[in-house]
Amino acid sequence: MNMRSQQPTPFRDDQSNPHVHVAAGEGAYDNTREVLSRINLAAVKGKRVLLKPNAGRIATPESGITTNPQVVAAAIDVFREAGASVAVGESPIIGVKTMAAFEATGIASVARERNCPLIDMDVRQPVPVIVEDGVAIQSLKVCPEVVEYDVVVSIPVMKTHMHTVVTLAVKNMKGCLWRRTKIDLHMLPQIEGMDDKPLNIAIADMSSVLRPHLSLIDGTTGMEGLGPSAGQAKKLDLVVAGVDPFAADAVACSLMGLNAEEVPHLRIGAERGYGVIDLSKIHVNPDTWHDFSSPFEPPPENLSIRFPGVTILDEQSCSACQSTLFVFLKRYGDKVFNHFPEQKNVTIAIGKGHESVPYGTLCIGNCTAQHEKLGVFVSGCPPVASEILKTISERNLEESSDLQIE
Ligand code: SF4
Repeated sequence: MNMRSQQPTPFRDDQSNPHVHVAAGEGAYDNTREVLSRINLAAVKGKRVLLKPNAGRIATPESGITTNPQVVAAAIDVFREAGASVAVGESPIIGVKTMAAFEATGIASVARERNCPLIDMDVRQPVPVIVEDGVAIQSLKVCPEVVEYDVVVSIPVMKTHMHTVVTLAVKNMKGCLWRRTKIDLHMLPQIEGMDDKPLNIAIADMSSVLRPHLSLIDGTTGMEGLGPSAGQAKKLDLVVAGVDPFAADAVACSLMGLNAEEVPHLRIGAERGYGVIDLSKIHVNPDTWHDFSSPFEPPPENLSIRFPGVTILDEQSCSACQSTLFVFLKRYGDKVFNHFPEQKNVTIAIGKGHESVPYGTLCIGNCTAQHEKLGVFVSGCPPVASEILKTISERNLEESSDLQIE
């Protein structure tokens, strides 16, 4: 069965001039209840609601990497009070087990307290969905729950993102793509005649068929800089909600000190009419919402500046290898040079898109396997950080003296 898309949203809003709600300063649970109290949820009575937080990694609530469990707790409570049956689902990044991520993030605990089902959306077979408007992609394999539930609520945490500038309500739906098919969006060839990265075009394509019915953006503790997993936690203590995910994302961007027009997947989607990002057309409640803004450090354009002496070549990697690399550099960065004593600069490559790499490059992940003979190769998809250290520790010393000295 090919699905065209989810059900239309049951929530009322003015599509040309959407409403977005912001609540701040009262803690994650109360902020969430407050923004949801401003939206008429009567339409969910008797319906099945799927909450899709960002629980894609093993991380604690304070890290700003995953959605705060109290936001999820409040959403469970509010939708149940409105007469819905509620479940929480996730399909995490590759290499992460869904239930382990739910436990680590604290979401399992709040769900258990409420006897709310947790769904590992990778367990069942996917549903193929045709992307009729697709430019970079023409079909997707989607976790079945996403098309079965009456209402899907995207509950991302407010973060900057190395590949996509931000990851908010629209991008969070990528976690509804089945298992490893998520990484397909990172491996697309450049589209002729288009300057935008194929990943960003593909996310806009995805949003033509996987738009959430409601968006609840957790700004309790977000992440700035090297997001989505290696930046700094940023406390804001606010929650944003809206029916139009593009409008909610645009307001969240502004609260982060960013312009949604400069977020390619939002700009492309808005140009195609999937939502509104022009702030002059969005009604934001309260009027004083700008008072809550606190600029996020944007993702760096050049990763190598962050890690002196290390040149990172990132071509079409996915978030899993990027996370592994950052964890490795954070944990063991000072040890890298012990294993490349002849080099002033260590070059590291991740991702599938390298036609060639400099001799002596530390090639991380199976996507770089074709360059294995040119340097030090660490297999895995993704490898774990300790495996990278083990591989460079064990490499043949004779081989190391052959490596390029810059
Ligand atoms: S090797 Fe790394 S970049 Fe390639 S698919 Fe696996 S995790 Fe992604």
